Amino acid sequence: MLRSSVSRRRLLLRLLQGAVLLPLGASTPRVTHASERQDVHFIARTLELARIGSERGDGTPYGAVVVSDGIVIAEGWNRAHLKRDATAHAEVEAIQAAARVLGSRNLAGCTLYTNGGRPCPMCEGAAYFANVDRLVYAHSVDAIMDAGRPQLGGC
Ligand SMILES: [Zn+2]
Repeated sequence: MLRSSVSRRRLLLRLLQGAVLLPLGASTPRVTHASERQDVHFIARTLELARIGSERGDGTPYGAVVVSDGIVIAEGWNRAHLKRDATAHAEVEAIQAAARVLGSRNLAGCTLYTNGGRPCPMCEGAAYFANVDRLVYAHSVDAIMDAGRPQLGGC
């Protein structure tokens, strides 16, 4: 168990190289879902998107991906500065992109991954209304949290 946690932490830290936007923690990772390897992979992608978007000056350092059947179907990062739009959060960008990909506003069966703490009420509300099945966020580099079904006003 401990060995697995240490290994997971090393993997996560390796994946996060270059993601300077989150503080490095000293504790071991905490992944709370059976698909923890996928969770680490997809959270790492959100961190990469956050870094890329922030370096481009598009917005604050947040990234998000929507996953269906183990495949990233949409990505987004905060573009609030670029679009001069306070609603252009990473999660909303990813949800909108996923809806375009699927040709439907119903994202049942999808998981929304995002970096940082639990999404803001607007973003979690968007995930709720999009019928996202599962919300996973990286509270920090050493803790991935599975929030389950998005809640309306549950932040
Ligand atoms: Zn938000």
